Amino acid sequence: MGACPVKKRLMFITLIIVLLLVIFMLWKFQSKHLSSEPNLKEFSPKTMPSGNENQYDIHLKMDEDGNFQIETTVEIKNTSEDAWQELIFYFIPNIFTKESLEQLGHSLDAPATLKVHDILVENKSSKYALDKDTLKIPLDASLQLGDHITVNFSYQFTLPVGGLRFTKMNDNYHLAQFYPMLATFRNHKWNKEAYRFKGETYHTGFNDFKVAYDIPEEYTFVSTSEGESYPSERMDTFKVKDVKEIFIAILKETFVVEKKVGNINIRVFGFEEKDELYKEISEIASDSLQYFQEIIGSYPFTQLDIVLDGPGMEYPGIVTAGSIYGKTVPDESVKDMVVHEIAHQWFYGMINNDPYYEAWLDEGFTTFAQSLFHYAQSNEKIPYDTMLDGINLIKDATLPVNLPLDKYENSSHIYGKASKMLWLLFKERGRIGEAEKFIKTYYDFYNYKEVNTEEFVRFARYYFNIADDSELTTWLEIDH
Ligand SMILES: [Zn+2]
Repeated sequence: MGACPVKKRLMFITLIIVLLLVIFMLWKFQSKHLSSEPNLKEFSPKTMPSGNENQYDIHLKMDEDGNFQIETTVEIKNTSEDAWQELIFYFIPNIFTKESLEQLGHSLDAPATLKVHDILVENKSSKYALDKDTLKIPLDASLQLGDHITVNFSYQFTLPVGGLRFTKMNDNYHLAQFYPMLATFRNHKWNKEAYRFKGETYHTGFNDFKVAYDIPEEYTFVSTSEGESYPSERMDTFKVKDVKEIFIAILKETFVVEKKVGNINIRVFGFEEKDELYKEISEIASDSLQYFQEIIGSYPFTQLDIVLDGPGMEYPGIVTAGSIYGKTVPDESVKDMVVHEIAHQWFYGMINNDPYYEAWLDEGFTTFAQSLFHYAQSNEKIPYDTMLDGINLIKDATLPVNLPLDKYENSSHIYGKASKMLWLLFKERGRIGEAEKFIKTYYDFYNYKEVNTEEFVRFARYYFNIADDSELTTWLEIDH
């Protein structure tokens, strides 16, 4: 007699379970050995400390003639391990005064004017020294780790015409870096480099801001704030946390196109009758914002403003586009520029780096993200084999991409070469999806932290599981 049907069924079920287990184990074994899954479980990111935490409270009043009265209070906390004898701020409005421009061998038909009324430290009038964009304030008593100090600045200025970012453009006022910005403190000293008219020579950590403004009737106020409507109030206040800086544009006659992406309101401010172009710009802005949110992480505000009068430049929650160092660019390039500045909301806006010493980390990653968007949209093949053709033609093509700004004659290394070398890491590692995964992992580790080249290299070694640095040393100068 054969086995009873119940036994047979049990044996059959056992066999199926064993078979399934074997298949599962084989699959596990195979996926472990075939996939290039980075082993990042033991990896913990490090951040470069900014050495201070600050709260800025800014009161801005503009009159009909473009005179600005500013009261700025900064509450500073020393988070470095050193005791400070002085405070060092960037004060960029002073760069555009006749006197500073002359010292730097520049001139403008209409330079800025600046008058500092008073600087108070803990409510006591203080000495200070202002030289070009360096504002030095000596302290009566040294400020230790964990100590707070409050500094008030009272000053007035007019904007230059033909300035950089801090400038009057046509009838519009662009207020970038218009308040004293405390420098970072690291390696036992203030990290403040000399101003340059190319690149970004100022660097801060993430700080909190409170702004109150009062502007003439015929203008609208457009800024880092996510709460503004169009036209803006004549007087209002806003608050924003964890941003490197704030930007304000005070605009006269504008053509505005608004577009919603989920809960984010995109506003395009144009100054000519080019409605079609502004619509197209709002479309590409919305597509790229959506793409970056999908592949990288959430955009941190509920509004994004695009001001189409000015140099391609990123600020938290607001960007400008239209020209490169004073030269206007064709409409198609303005669209690319907008995508680039939007990508900066992640690389600069949320992942911090020192743009004087490590400009490639925001410009290179931003350009890389910009081209990711382009390839993802167009389904174009990534041209690995010809990628370096243009780069090989630039002056000093072999220079690494992570040198300070004063070591380059142009910016091709930090934008073009850096982004292309990032691409080449994926030449043998799979398709666009791998590059997207990489950029997401990098963001997940470093959002609201500051990265430097050394830390990027540490991350890349883990991520790509590379035993030697030969893929990195061809384009990065690495200390061992
Ligand atoms: Zn950029």
